[in-house]
This record gives sequence, structure tokens and C-alpha cells, in this order.
Amino acid sequence: TEELLRRTEKLTIVGQLAAGVAHEIRNPLTTLRGFVQMQLKGKALAPYYQTIMLGELDRINFIVSEFLVLAKPQADRFQDCRLKAILEDMAALIEPEALLNDVRVRMELGGGDPIVAGEPNQLKQVFLNLMKNGIEAMSERGGRLSVTLVSVPGQVVVQLRDEGVGISEEQLARLGEPFFTSKEKGNGLGLMVSQRIVNNHGGSLVVRSKVGEGTEVSVSLPAKEREAGLSQPNSG
Ligand code: ADP
Ligand code: MG
Repeated sequence: TEELLRRTEKLTIVGQLAAGVAHEIRNPLTTLRGFVQMQLKGKALAPYYQTIMLGELDRINFIVSEFLVLAKPQADRFQDCRLKAILEDMAALIEPEALLNDVRVRMELGGGDPIVAGEPNQLKQVFLNLMKNGIEAMSERGGRLSVTLVSVPGQVVVQLRDEGVGISEEQLARLGEPFFTSKEKGNGLGLMVSQRIVNNHGGSLVVRSKVGEGTEVSVSLPAKEREAGLSQPNSG
């Protein structure tokens, strides 16, 4: 059966976030504290352990910076973003990972050049997260990741379709929950952060999936009207 997830508002998110962040940061802090204590007792730490410490610090830094993105929508910093260019840039960035996983990325970006008002770095993060998830879902057998850009009146829709493992109904219900991950090395933040960013841009993010067949993520964003004189003829 096909499941549909639609979350434009999630009121419980703040409480979940606070608990999640506290939990996720406490683990690396505990590790770091242990190492510092060892050093205080006069034990010289091997470089191996120092590398672990660095990794734990990076992890804390990553979690905190992910949440800074969510701190507040900065509409005053919105600028005209060309979605096509953003998608092309992110596809190029993810290409090595795609190759490594035997994934072919197919871009169908259409003839137009739709513009949305937004923070380009945040929008880039959204599409990078989603492409990454698609590729990771196909890491077993490889496959195709299709990225489609469609303009409909007033809206721009980006669809990312993979042929990966898919998502069970049980997991689908938990998507967007902070720190929910099915991956050994996952952090469970990508989807939640993406959803928040898209919502902050006045858009919506919908996930459809079938176990064993694949997943489709649709991101709709409000299209920005072009200035007079800049408009292009409609392209079908
Ligand atoms: P992470 O990728 O670190 O696990 P995300 O927030 O990006 O965190 O994704 C959360 C979970 O949602 C993943 O662990 C996975 O179970 C599921 N998921 C997300 N995207 C896909 C996809 N394209 N195909 C299958 N499962 C997915
Ligand atoms: Mg992810």
C-alpha cells in the first residue's frame, strides 16, 4: 500500500527537539569527559584517542549547526534562487557518492528556469539531504535516482525518485522525527531539517514510498513571479 506523509505543521517538534538535542550531545560529551579525566590522571593519550575526541567534537558541532538553521526563518535574507542551478550544483556535488554506490542520477529539469525566494544555502542543503537519502537507499544494489523539476502555476515542484529499499508504514509515520534513523551511521536529522527549511520557505515536503520498490519525495515551493521584461515564454 502507498503511504502519504504530509507535515506542514508540527507543534510537538520543539519539545522533541530539546529532548533529542540534549540526548545526542550528552553521548559525545561523556566520551570527551572520560578522555580528559584519563589525561588528568597523567595518562598520555595515544593519537588514536585524540582522533576520537576530534570526531566527537565535530559531532557536537554538526548537531548544533544543524539546529542553528532551524532557529528562525530569515525571510529578510531571502533572495532570488534559480532552482535549476541549485539542483545541478547539488547533483555535481553528490556525483562521487552516486558512482561509489552504483547509482545513476537522471536530471529532468525542463525547459524553464523557475525562481523561488529563499536562502540558497538552505535550499541546497535540502536537495543535498534528499539526494543523499535516495543514494543511500540504493547502496545495496544501485539503481536510478531521478530528479524532476516541474513548474505549475504559482509553484515549482521538485521530485526525487529512487529505486531503493523503500520505507515501511511504521517508519513512514516516524519520518521527520529528530534523530530517527534506520542507518548505522545515520543521524536522523536530514529529513527533519529539510522539512523545516521547506516549510520556512512556504512550501511543503511529501514522502511516498513502497517497501522494496522505492521512494518519491516531492518538494513544492512557491514560484516567484518574474519581473516584467524578464519573463520567458511558457515552455511546455
Ligand atoms: P539519516 O539519513 O541520517 O538516517 P534522515 O533524516 O535523512 O536521516 O532520514 C531518516 C530516515 O528516513 C532514514 O534513516 C531512512 O530510514 C528513512 N529514509 C529517508 N529517505 C529515504 C529514502 N529515500 N529511502 C528509504 N528510506 C529513507
Ligand atoms: Mg539522510
